[in-house]
Amino acid sequence: MTHCARCDRPHAQPITHPTGGTEDLCPDCTARAALEYAAAQHLHALLAPTLTTWARHWVAAGVQPQDLAAVLEAHGVTWGTGPRDPYAAAQVVVRDALN
Ligand SMILES: [Zn+2]
Repeated sequence: MTHCARCDRPHAQPITHPTGGTEDLCPDCTARAALEYAAAQHLHALLAPTLTTWARHWVAAGVQPQDLAAVLEAHGVTWGTGPRDPYAAAQVVVRDALN
């Protein structure tokens, strides 16, 4: 019997993630994974136009693309209270957004 990779419940079924890779999940975790993917797609759709405008503006102003990437990476890590761990920083961003 296969157990769920996320919650360890029995009777998990293999699913293929839209981004690649497979995982054995129970029905609840399969539904949760689908919602997480939808949230990622939504975030990308919201951020892509803003990041495109931002990057084109600053490259036109003379900033090198690799330096913009470093700015974006640093901003992602230091947003909120500034934890150095990217996941901890992301948790702060989401927590602040919900308060
Ligand atoms: Zn599960």
